[in-house]
Amino acid sequence: MASERVINFGAGPSALPVSVLEEATQGLLNFQGTGIGIAEISHRSKEFQAFISNLEASIRTQLDVPSTHHILFTQGGGSGQFSAVVLNMLARYRLLHPERTAEDAVMDYVVTGSWSKKAAEEARRLGGGRVNVVVDSRGHSKDGKAFDNIPPHDAFQFSEDPALIYYCENETVDGVEFSHEESSPASFPFHLLKTDALVPLVADYSSSFMCRPIPRLADHAIIYAGAQKNIGPAGLTILIVRQDCIVDVDTAAKLGAAPVPITMSYKTLADSGSLYNTPSVLPIYIAGLVLDRMQRHGGLKHYEETNRRKALKVYDVLKEGEAVGIFRGKVQEGAGSWMNVVFEVVGADAEKEFLDGAEKRGMKGLKGHRSVGGIRVSLYNAVTEQEVDQFVEYAREFIKSHSTVQS
Ligand code: PMP
Repeated sequence: MASERVINFGAGPSALPVSVLEEATQGLLNFQGTGIGIAEISHRSKEFQAFISNLEASIRTQLDVPSTHHILFTQGGGSGQFSAVVLNMLARYRLLHPERTAEDAVMDYVVTGSWSKKAAEEARRLGGGRVNVVVDSRGHSKDGKAFDNIPPHDAFQFSEDPALIYYCENETVDGVEFSHEESSPASFPFHLLKTDALVPLVADYSSSFMCRPIPRLADHAIIYAGAQKNIGPAGLTILIVRQDCIVDVDTAAKLGAAPVPITMSYKTLADSGSLYNTPSVLPIYIAGLVLDRMQRHGGLKHYEETNRRKALKVYDVLKEGEAVGIFRGKVQEGAGSWMNVVFEVVGADAEKEFLDGAEKRGMKGLKGHRSVGGIRVSLYNAVTEQEVDQFVEYAREFIKSHSTVQS
């Protein structure tokens, strides 16, 4: 029952709008008057094909994706793209430079958090090229171990002619980091990239896709995201791929590149309109409903404004708690994410008490990532500002009742 739902601050899968879930239950029974449910209808039916085309058009319009870039849908999640990106971009590099050795094919990784670290590890595991860590933000952190900061631009060591340059947005290298200032500087050093050639810039947008416009989208070779944060259930992966990165992987393999599994080849996806094999029909459907709703609610501009306000409110209460020693932020000021605010509750058992108290007030999903601990407040699009206000009110009460500092 919709009325029995709690406030879900989960990090992914995360909250979806109730109106969309209600609409989707209808679609599960009868998709667009076909008499067949969405999970049962053929992906080759004209109704579904029209639906997926509309989804593509909606992403293109809302994100302002230029005609130089394809929008593709696949499966395998963000982790699947850790591999696919490497295979497709090494194939592209092989076609561009058939005479060069695998040792020449350098893949530049900006390592600013656990996801980009994992992506770099997968590139190393696959081989076929050499991984260059452009910067590792742990080297710039307070304790030398945590990913808690945006590294200074002069710390980035890009290679001369890399096969790819990889970063993970939302991992403290957001195109625009979260700060109180309206016009915070871009934290990813786009200006250091060579712009005379087609820069092979790859970005993992899994955590923040469709939460605000993508800065310098057209300068990217590949942008990808799993759907399960802002726009739908897990099972759908969205790719925005520049035309020059859609390459004939089989010709590249003849020249010595690693063979690419057919469903991972961007060319296969592009040539088939993302329908080479059965796609994740239900997640695509729900994502389509979410995107339609977004458009009706004022598009990305509206979400950007709301998400900024939501994050500001949580960062403000976090600061209040820090000032009296109740909370401790996990990232340095100005390096915080728009979507996931992470902090610790200071004191033995204090974290459990905080989580229990939140749960009593109908707020769930606040426990931090299993490898990092602490509290993580995820503020994805479907988390309303009013729900954020409820969290802030609770956090303020917690601070007040635990504070020994007299005001
Ligand atoms: N990249 C980022 C930034 C993520 O947040 C996640 C998952 N939360 C992943 C990659 C991995 O995605 P998946 O679970 O879809 O493989």
